[in-house]
Amino acid sequence: MSRFLNEQYRSLEAYTPGEQPRNMQYIKLNTNESPYPPAPSVVEAMTAEQVELLRLYSDPTAKELKEKLAGLYEVQPENVFVSNGSDEVLNFAFMAFGGKGVLFPEISYGFYEVYADLYQLDSEKIPLEPDFSLDYRKYCGKGKMVVIANPNAPTGMSIPVWQIEEILKSNPDSLVLIDEAYVDFGGETCLPLIAKYDNLLVTRTFSKSRCLAGGRLGYAFGNASIIADLEKIKYSTNPYNINRLTLLLGAATVDAEPYYQEKCREIMETRSWTKQQLENLGFEVLPSDTNFLFAKTETMDGGALYEALKARGILVRHFGNPKICQFNRITIGTKEQMVVFINTLKEVLL
Ligand code: PMP
Repeated sequence: MSRFLNEQYRSLEAYTPGEQPRNMQYIKLNTNESPYPPAPSVVEAMTAEQVELLRLYSDPTAKELKEKLAGLYEVQPENVFVSNGSDEVLNFAFMAFGGKGVLFPEISYGFYEVYADLYQLDSEKIPLEPDFSLDYRKYCGKGKMVVIANPNAPTGMSIPVWQIEEILKSNPDSLVLIDEAYVDFGGETCLPLIAKYDNLLVTRTFSKSRCLAGGRLGYAFGNASIIADLEKIKYSTNPYNINRLTLLLGAATVDAEPYYQEKCREIMETRSWTKQQLENLGFEVLPSDTNFLFAKTETMDGGALYEALKARGILVRHFGNPKICQFNRITIGTKEQMVVFINTLKEVLL
C-alpha cells in the first residue's frame, strides 16, 4: 500500500476472483463459465473490418444492443441498462442506491460485501436458514436497499417470484436488486414485475448462459427513472463503458437466441446427470437452478478435495468461510468433462 491511498480504502478487502490459470490446462469447473463457444454467427460477426473500426469510440448509448434486448424481453429500451459485465451495474447500483443501508444474504455473491465496504454503506448480512434456503420475510419492511441473487450463488437455490413481490411491496421506498446472473438455468425471472414496481432492478449477464464471460457484458432492467440514475453514474465515470467489439458480439448473441436456449438445456441435462452421480458417491448436493452444483461429502474435507482434484487437473471452487468450507462449487461443463470429473472423484475418494 502506498502512503497516498485515501484513508477510507486502507482497510478495504478486495474481491478475490476464481483462479484463471495460465500455466496448465485444467478442466475448468471453477468460475461458472459456459463450456460451449458462442454461436457460430457471433464468431462470424467479428470481422477484420470491425477490428479496424476500433479506432473509433464505441456508442455510449449502446442503442442497437438496448433495442435488441428490449425486443427479446418485451420491455422498452428506456428500461434497459448495459454494462461492462454485470459486476459494473452492481457497482453502480450500490453507489447510487445504497445510502440508507443495504441488506443481503450472508452466504451469497462475495462482491456484494466488497461494494458495500467500498462505498462505506451500513450493511447487514442476513444468515441463510440451516438448509441454505432463504427466508424472504427477513428482507420485508426493512427500509434499506435489498440485494438478492436469485438463484443464489454459491448455493444454487432459488426463491419463487411471489416472495420477491412481497419484498418489493414491503420496501416501497428502497431499491430491491435481484441479481439474475443464473436465471437461464431453471430459475423463475421476476422481470415482469418491473412494470408494477418502480423499486425493482433486475441484473443479468452474458457471462454464463451467453458464453461471453471474456467479452464482459452485463445488463439490467428497471423502471425508466432507475435506469436514468444508472446512466448518470455511467456518464460520470466511464461513458464508453462497453467496447465496440463487445457491443457487436452482444447484439449478435441476442439474435442467436435459439442456440443459447439449446445450450442451457444441455447444461441442465448434464447437471441432473452429475448430481445423480455425486449422490451415488455419497455426496450431499444442494438443489440447483444454476450452471453449478454445491456439494459436500462426509468422507473428505472440502479443502482437501479441492486440492486433490486440482492436482489431477480439475479446478473447482472452494470457499474458506467456515459455514461452507466443507462444500465445493462445481461448474457444469460438457458431458465429457463431467464424466472425467466423476471418474477422477472416484479415484480421489478410493
Ligand atoms: N452475480 C453473480 C451472482 C455472479 O456469480 C457473478 C459472477 N461471478 C456476477 C454477478 C458477475 O458476473 P459478470 O460480471 O461476469 O457479469
